[in-house]
Amino acid sequence: MDASDTDVVIVGAGPVGLSLALALDVRGTRVRVVDSNAAPASTSRTLVMWARTLEHFDALGLDTSRLTKDAIGVHGARVFSHDGTSARELVDVPFDGAESAHGMGVFVPQSVTEQFLLEACATRGIEVMHGRTLKSSFDRGDSTESVVSGAHGDEIMRASYTIGCDGARSTVRHGMGVQFEGETIDDRFVLADVLLDFGDDGGREAIRVIWHPDGVVAFLPVTRGVWRIIARTAPPTTDAREVSFSEILEILQRRANGVIPASALPTSALWLSEFHVNERVASTFHEGRIFLAGDAAHIHSPVGGQGMNAGIADAMNLAWKLDLVRQGMADAALLESYESERRPAIDRIIRATGFALRAATGRPKILAKIRNAIVPVLLSSTHVQSRLVAGLSQLSLSYAKGPLARKGGRAGKVRAGSRFPNLIATDDAGTVRPLQRELTYTRFLALGWEDATSPGGAFSATQSLLTALPERLRAQTRSALLTSCPRIAGGMEMFFDASGAAVRALGGGSGSMLVRPDGYIAAVAQNGDPHDIARFLRAASF
Ligand SMILES: Cc1cc2nc3c(=O)[nH]c(=O)nc-3n(C[C@H](O)[C@H](O)[C@H](O)COP(=O)(O)OP(=O)(O)OC[C@H]3O[C@@H](n4cnc5c(N)ncnc54)[C@H](O)[C@@H]3O)c2cc1C
Repeated sequence: MDASDTDVVIVGAGPVGLSLALALDVRGTRVRVVDSNAAPASTSRTLVMWARTLEHFDALGLDTSRLTKDAIGVHGARVFSHDGTSARELVDVPFDGAESAHGMGVFVPQSVTEQFLLEACATRGIEVMHGRTLKSSFDRGDSTESVVSGAHGDEIMRASYTIGCDGARSTVRHGMGVQFEGETIDDRFVLADVLLDFGDDGGREAIRVIWHPDGVVAFLPVTRGVWRIIARTAPPTTDAREVSFSEILEILQRRANGVIPASALPTSALWLSEFHVNERVASTFHEGRIFLAGDAAHIHSPVGGQGMNAGIADAMNLAWKLDLVRQGMADAALLESYESERRPAIDRIIRATGFALRAATGRPKILAKIRNAIVPVLLSSTHVQSRLVAGLSQLSLSYAKGPLARKGGRAGKVRAGSRFPNLIATDDAGTVRPLQRELTYTRFLALGWEDATSPGGAFSATQSLLTALPERLRAQTRSALLTSCPRIAGGMEMFFDASGAAVRALGGGSGSMLVRPDGYIAAVAQNGDPHDIARFLRAASF
């Protein structure tokens, strides 16, 4: 048997494995990716890529405009109720006001996402090996060994870590003996990509959801003129029941009359599939040097399009920690924060998507009546809409309750653990620079800010923060100042906030914050003592 060495073996070249490979590689960790498929998948479960995922890709230095330029944006959802005879629109929810340069997100088929990530891997020289199946992996205490089979026999891959991104049936998870706790929902879901023309959307291409007594049916735009239909059906009475186009047509005729004109019904399907919904979470996300991420660690209903996006968030949460520990720049205890931060986020997604799925069934009838009365009122509230937009797009995800967020740290509406906000400033040359775009996965950011009441405050706060940082982290930290004072020389990279809005969003005055490579705020010191931040960082294993 051949043997080879690398820093990290990633099992699975799905969207999560490939994102993880890029995140580790940009930080200088060597990776090898293996996937049992002979070639990348050409069909697409995932459609929705939320803004937060695009921001993560920006931080990896990927050109996200290649993904977004021809993609349909996520602009809203129209919800209908059907009583078996006719449909009425309950509510049309605009998805406006997402606090990101990417808006709410875009519809991108998973095959396109994977191709985009594979090309980025190829450009960086990352080894992605298709046609290689992981058979088993072992934690040897100071390294891992993975047995991988391919056309030329078995190979042992030695690494510092092995990460299972090998999907819901994860061999890595099975090998660890980790339970996948949760339930399978009985009902069957059918899926069809079809040519369809709703004709009345003004280019908005809103998602449609129809609540029908037979089961919910949803329509999502794939590309211009192509829509994905997902419908819930009763569990099959026999094992062998494959989805057919005539089944889809029958569903549309029964459940979508009044929403799709009979003349616009599709005549064939581009792709047909079916699936069951599972809600399961691994009992642990890592044991020793072997980790799980993406569907290998958690699966849930596709309602809300969260699965891939959450898996990529796993990858972004894990990679910088693994890299710091591998380089000896942080204590191995830092890796415990991967699960402490990600598990509550996943639990929230499972609760929310599970609730949405069950509400959509509308069983028993009385519940459907209550739902139909309450939902339009709720979803017409701008407050609820903006919370929905922030939650779905994963922009409001926060690790504030996790072990790495310094408690009590707050600057205006921003607090330790939350995502670095989308502050807009200009640089020395007057060019508009959204600060979110300044974040890079390769470094921490020490940002100081000040308004006219504290000229010079940003520099001194940031300087003290840098001095207080452990030396090994300082080398990994970029520093910058944000000022709403007239243009003054700051002695560091400067961003100007002529309107004062960005500094006001941070509570005004002066202060400094440390932003993690994955774009979450580690600690904030407003008009305070940055040494406190350093003490906190040491306690958090840095
Ligand atoms: C109908 C449907 C619609 C969905 N829509 C969305 C959406 O819009 N947005 C969203 O975020 N999520 C969506 N999801 C969820 C999303 O598809 C998954 O969460 C996502 O694909 C998980 O990515 P992954 O990389 O973790 O796993 P996968 O995509 O499953 O990739 C795992 C990879 O591991 C490989 N592999 C498996 N075993 C081995 C082995 N032993 N050795 C080597 N390789 C192996 C496989 O070949 C595969 O390539 C949807 C799911 C469904 C069912």
